[in-house]
Amino acid sequence: MKTIFEKSNGVEGINLTDEKMDMSFLDSSLIRNDKIGLPQLGELEVMRHYKELSDRNFCIEKGFYPLGSCTMKYNPKVNEFLSVLENFTNLHPLYDDTDCQGALELMYKLQNALKVLTGMDAVTLQPSAGAHGELTGMMIIKKYFEVKSEIRRKVIIPDSAHGTNPASAKMCGFDIVEIKSNEKGQVDLNALKSVLDKDVAAIMLTNPNTLGLFEENVLEISHLMHENGSLLYYDGANFNAIMGYTNPKLMGFDVVHLNLHKTMATPHGGGGPGAGPVCVTSALKEFLPAPVVDFDGQIYFRNYDIKHSIGSVKAFYGNFSVLVKAYAYILMMGKNLKAASENAVLNANYLKEKLKKYFELPYDEPCMHEFVLSGEKLKCENGVSTLNIAKALMDENTHPPTVYFPLIVHEALMIEPTESETKDKLDEFVDVMVKIAKDAAINPEKLIKAPHTTPVKRVDETLAARHPDLKFQG
Ligand SMILES: *Cc1c(COP(=O)(O)O)cnc(C)c1O
Repeated sequence: MKTIFEKSNGVEGINLTDEKMDMSFLDSSLIRNDKIGLPQLGELEVMRHYKELSDRNFCIEKGFYPLGSCTMKYNPKVNEFLSVLENFTNLHPLYDDTDCQGALELMYKLQNALKVLTGMDAVTLQPSAGAHGELTGMMIIKKYFEVKSEIRRKVIIPDSAHGTNPASAKMCGFDIVEIKSNEKGQVDLNALKSVLDKDVAAIMLTNPNTLGLFEENVLEISHLMHENGSLLYYDGANFNAIMGYTNPKLMGFDVVHLNLHKTMATPHGGGGPGAGPVCVTSALKEFLPAPVVDFDGQIYFRNYDIKHSIGSVKAFYGNFSVLVKAYAYILMMGKNLKAASENAVLNANYLKEKLKKYFELPYDEPCMHEFVLSGEKLKCENGVSTLNIAKALMDENTHPPTVYFPLIVHEALMIEPTESETKDKLDEFVDVMVKIAKDAAINPEKLIKAPHTTPVKRVDETLAARHPDLKFQG
């Protein structure tokens, strides 16, 4: 496909006025005399160009998108409509509090909703993604021990964790202590006990974990940690599994991040924008980034008076439009958030039971909102790797699941259908996966060369990552 620069055919738009603007007030060195170099095309050609580009993309509106851990649920269009209301988009963050009461009220009520969902006591909406929330949470934990004059340098993280967990803790200056999962895919309590000492600041846990399994011993873990004077950080990326059924507070956590762009239905394919609010217990409230949104009974206001605040982690108060979408979603769903989790878990278990006859299921337990298959047998027997399966799915109008994560499962395929899908759609996915498993035995070559129907075929992933060629050289 040609770029819009190559398609440029010199058609110029109409100048509504022929009068030249008086530029004499500007220094002549600042005035451009040569052409700006933008492509010239008629409106229809421009529209066709961008439509063609968008058609080459894959999105939830086009097909099934079971990207594990990412919660690619349906994002209701009304959220988009509400987030671009002029009274929101024309606001400036430097307005006085009294001139933006509506926006502050919305953020205050969103904070309250997140408190109810997590069981926590205070919230910052500033962080712009899950990983950013992790960093914020770890900074809070670090400052908490500093203020207590306790030196604790270590953070415990299970080997099934998302890579952002150790990265965030390390960025904060902590030393990472990895603990192995046991044969059930859960935190090994003995491994935990063996590394627990007075130098441990915290544990970072994802529950349900990245295998889609609920940590059965979470209460014992929180008891052990607190007895040791350590804190518990909850990676809330998998919150879609538990809404309204339980919460991190009941499990004994002290700090939680939520990925609003995952659980609360705001679009996040292609990397953003997102929001990763952090919720904490009352003991950690005085450490939150400033400002938080407060209410004095009369007006909503930005509260900068936070005793041990770690400072700001983002300009102003985060990605406001994402907050609007998430709040709209929460209001719209109400008590049905619980039903969303229920259906997400049901859908995942349905797929798991259907697919385990064709692919290995390393941890054969009832799962939460997602599960992890292994493609190792197909690879050994037919030379068809998990990567090949992912590429073959693209030929079937299906987004591949998350692959090669978590690292503890060989040839991992991490599948999360979400609550949005119908049984028919799930059955279609099963058929496609079964077809791929059968093709692997009959015609492995076809899969190894997939995809065959997408606009872009196999890319050299190493080259694409190491030497990205992103600039059009006209
Ligand atoms: C997505 C995810 C993260 C990181 O969240 P971002 O919003 O992508 O920064 C962390 N942990 C888990 C388990 C995740 O799935």
